[in-house]
Amino acid sequence: MEDRVYIFDTTLRDGEQSPGVALNVMEKLEIGHALVDLGVDVIEAGFPISSPGDFESVSTLSRELRGVTICGLTRAKREDIECAGEALKPAERPRIHTGLGVSDQHLEHKLRMSRDQALEVGVNAVKLAKQFTDDVEYFMEDSGRADPQYVYRVVEAVIDAGATVINVPDTTGYTFPTEYMALIRGIIENVPNSDKATFSCHCHNDLGMATANTLAGVVGGARQVEVTVNGIGERAGNTALEEVVTAFAIRKDFFNVSTNIKLAKLMDISRLVSRLTGMMVQRNKAVVGANAYAHSSGIHQDGVLKDRLNYEIIAPELVGAARSEIILTARSGRHGVKHRLAEMGFSFTDDRFERIYEGFLRVADTKKEVTEDDLKELVDTVK
Ligand SMILES: [Zn+2]
Repeated sequence: MEDRVYIFDTTLRDGEQSPGVALNVMEKLEIGHALVDLGVDVIEAGFPISSPGDFESVSTLSRELRGVTICGLTRAKREDIECAGEALKPAERPRIHTGLGVSDQHLEHKLRMSRDQALEVGVNAVKLAKQFTDDVEYFMEDSGRADPQYVYRVVEAVIDAGATVINVPDTTGYTFPTEYMALIRGIIENVPNSDKATFSCHCHNDLGMATANTLAGVVGGARQVEVTVNGIGERAGNTALEEVVTAFAIRKDFFNVSTNIKLAKLMDISRLVSRLTGMMVQRNKAVVGANAYAHSSGIHQDGVLKDRLNYEIIAPELVGAARSEIILTARSGRHGVKHRLAEMGFSFTDDRFERIYEGFLRVADTKKEVTEDDLKELVDTVK
């Protein structure tokens, strides 16, 4: 039987930390409802102690959303955890996400603690969080650059203290997929109580490898992925939700895992998040980009029209996108032009079509894309 991978969406927390993005509570609630409809398992709704607005967002989403776990982020500090516990009170399924750094870089230059001190702080944070909810997730910031031997010690101790999900963040987007896979696999194999927790991938896209690393982590045994819609987030962003779940679907033969996500809603939520955050989706973005199902060269158009699978591995309707698009340009061949004319309701003798096609090439040389209006004009003028 295939394994279930849990989708932890952090669009409203890590995603909202994108430079230039600020969502109000009503906008967060609108995205929250869309995430529930999409089928995510966990919504990280904010970092309650960071601001009154974040507190209000976490508490409003906790009150309004059902059928989903609502998560609040904290540092490994008493006041953070108590604040998150308060904000999450109305939630049907509350989760506290606490933790601290594990790399020597973070221990020495940010936390100014020894490894043993940091371990104790982390364990105490988990124990305190457990007083508010059974569902405690522990993050080990900068795991990607940490000494694995120390990571194993931390994981064992925080699971003993009651953490049920262990987040292994590649905070700086530094790792390579095979390394990240080995990190997750190493934790699962070397930590004696690892069977008592679910391991979670949290990757950043500084080197463009967030999706690859997350997928590699799942191969290594992780069963939760932390993602954002459109991959928004600090710096180069987080792992894109739509890329990961679509990869699971298209490469089911390889991953053999399932999620609860309704793929056909991906395009709509991508547009919603883009509109409310003001962060445009690049045209060539995987899965949800405007050009993701558009074909421009003659050879590709001919191939797709003969059989979509020649050049398209994702059926646009699978992710809620409009049908494949044939973009008419100077590189388009006869097949693409004839196809578009047929869609517009025209069919011609070979001779007449040949004259229209010659006219098409002349128009195409003067502009980036030939529109249906241009074709209509050609049909009217070329006899
Ligand atoms: Zn992050």
